[in-house]
Amino acid sequence: MNIILLGPPGAGKGTQARYLVENRGMVQLSTGDMLREARTSGTEMGKIVADVMDRGQLVTDEIVIGLIREKLETVKGAGFIFDGFPRTLGQADALATLLAEEGQELGAAIAMEVDDEALVERITARSTCGTCGEVYNDKTKPIPADGKCTNCGGTEFKRRADDNEESLKTRLMEYYKKTSPLIGYYYAKGLLATVDGLADMAAVRAAIAKVMDEA
Ligand code: AMP
Repeated sequence: MNIILLGPPGAGKGTQARYLVENRGMVQLSTGDMLREARTSGTEMGKIVADVMDRGQLVTDEIVIGLIREKLETVKGAGFIFDGFPRTLGQADALATLLAEEGQELGAAIAMEVDDEALVERITARSTCGTCGEVYNDKTKPIPADGKCTNCGGTEFKRRADDNEESLKTRLMEYYKKTSPLIGYYYAKGLLATVDGLADMAAVRAAIAKVMDEA
């Protein structure tokens, strides 16, 4: 089954997506990860993308749709998790077309609800393991004292360049202006489900599993 994880920055989309990859053999398609990879490539496109991302704005539909198209044509697995895509109505329409071309369907668009204050707290305290992507939080889940990732033993940790209060304000504004209309869009298609993104991790996992099992 293919699902979309929908929600503002810091809602926990990436964390839940990684869990589904490990436990259900699904394939995570994160346009944020693809773009972060593109920005390290040194190409002209990479430079433009880096600038837009650091300011917290959205990269053009054309670029992200191109990235998703390439993955859908080449990657196979037990269902895709669209993480951070689509973020505009144009991207949502393009996704519907791309899935239809591949003979695939969307099972659910799962909106993860979180209030803004919690997002700011989560994001400004966030770091990830450079090896496996495990997410840490300075207050609620600090990097272990021995400096080793609890998941993979990796010793390098990163903070995202756009995880600062200034860029986050723009990212939230972009979310409300351009991405939140997708909630109505998927509701109208009969595909919307909502989960409480502030519940503890196990409860969020269970809520997502229930949506998928019932879809
Ligand atoms: P994320 O890792 O999903 O938080 O994305 C990080 C940044 O990458 C965003 O703030 C945007 O600048 C860019 N980005 C990721 N996905 C998209 C998308 N679907 N459309 C436009 N920009 C995106």
